[in-house]
Amino acid sequence: MKKEKKKKAVFLDRDGTIVAHKPFLSSPDELELLTNAAEGLRLFKKYGYMAILVTNQSGIARGFFNEGQLALVHKKLLNILEGEGITIDDVYYCPHHIEGVIEKYKIVCECRKPKTGMFQSAARRHSIDLSQSIMIGDSEADMMAGKNAGCKSILIKNTHSDEILRNLVVNVDYIVNDLLEAARLFTY
Ligand SMILES: [Mg+2]
Ligand SMILES: [Zn+2]
Repeated sequence: MKKEKKKKAVFLDRDGTIVAHKPFLSSPDELELLTNAAEGLRLFKKYGYMAILVTNQSGIARGFFNEGQLALVHKKLLNILEGEGITIDDVYYCPHHIEGVIEKYKIVCECRKPKTGMFQSAARRHSIDLSQSIMIGDSEADMMAGKNAGCKSILIKNTHSDEILRNLVVNVDYIVNDLLEAARLFTY
């Protein structure tokens, strides 16, 4: 039997990484691509990385919005990126939170970052080699999830970054200003 060659992927947080962070963003109209996000994603894709969205959306467990509304947000985001010539290969989200109010989502799950459920699912479905892959995000949970999954980790700088870096118990591999700077580290 021929062994399938495993792929490499860039795992992407959504809020504060691809689009501007807006607390519990729930409407497609609120989506706002960050500076150089499209350019960075294009570069990663050009160099053969799968692009996988991995986003914690506890707003669902908290009752702020539902999975249908989130689907609309993601449909619009994928449309915006298609318009920029970028295909996102898969989207994973965690709707859970133990302090939620919607019973079915009020659980300790295996998918909420810093846990690695979303990474494992993507790796299985798409034959991704996590050790050749990268996690990019703007939070402590993103950096820990990336490390827990065995990926390289890149922190997108924002106003909380100094505090995040002080608190982190794992090493961040790179700290960058935006997705283009991240992509340039891995595409040359
Ligand atoms: Mg974020
Ligand atoms: Zn979850």
